[in-house]
Amino acid sequence: MTPVLKAAWTAQAFNGASECLQVFGGHGYVREWGIEQIVRDARVTMIYEGTNEIQAIDLLVRKIAPDAGLGLFTLLQTLSDELDPGVAAQAHFLDQVAALRQVTERLAQAAPGDPQLLYWVADDYLRALTLCLMSWAWLQISHATQDDASATAHGSRWTEPASAVRHWVLPEFAMRLHIITARLDSGA
Ligand SMILES: Cc1cc2nc3c(=O)[nH]c(=O)nc-3n(C[C@H](O)[C@H](O)[C@H](O)COP(=O)(O)OP(=O)(O)OC[C@H]3O[C@@H](n4cnc5c(N)ncnc54)[C@H](O)[C@@H]3O)c2cc1C
Repeated sequence: MTPVLKAAWTAQAFNGASECLQVFGGHGYVREWGIEQIVRDARVTMIYEGTNEIQAIDLLVRKIAPDAGLGLFTLLQTLSDELDPGVAAQAHFLDQVAALRQVTERLAQAAPGDPQLLYWVADDYLRALTLCLMSWAWLQISHATQDDASATAHGSRWTEPASAVRHWVLPEFAMRLHIITARLDSGA
């Protein structure tokens, strides 16, 4: 998970900082407010300690492809074991794992005949895996806060972020998988 965590959260830090700058409008862009410095400081984290592209290659080429995803899917199976396919949000995560597994197997099969393939799709793969794991993490958050008195007291403290993630963030999983599949289908 090291490459996933490094690349995913540094990219998120930069995107989050950039969105915060956007909220300030033109004032965000000028130096006086300090937010432009935060955007710049967050940006370098995508470059050093292994650039995020190199992290993505490490994940797919070195860590996942050699055993065709066996280690990864053992982990994802552990995360899946306690879930109930009868609950829509949980079924959604299980569907994501199944789709990711299918694409991983296709990648492992095709890679020996296409030396560029894994490098071509590594960024999209890392992002898809990130979104799959985020989907699981938000299931845990929902579960942990459903009977939480402080969550109830604060009303929308957890329900609104959960709804925003579901509507605006997690659908990107399908897009990333589609990009990878399109590359696989094109064969070049
Ligand atoms: C503020 C700052 C502090 C730093 N501190 C340290 C430090 O303390 N110690 C230290 O050792 N280093 C340090 N570095 C160096 C840092 O680790 C490197 O900048 C980083 O590893 C990227 O290497 P590079 O700059 O040579 O870029 P390059 O390797 O030339 O990469 C350029 C771009 O091409 C991409 N790229 C390269 N190869 C591939 C590939 N095969 N596939 C796809 N994309 C690829 C990269 O992801 C990157 O986007 C620091 C850098 C900065 C900016």
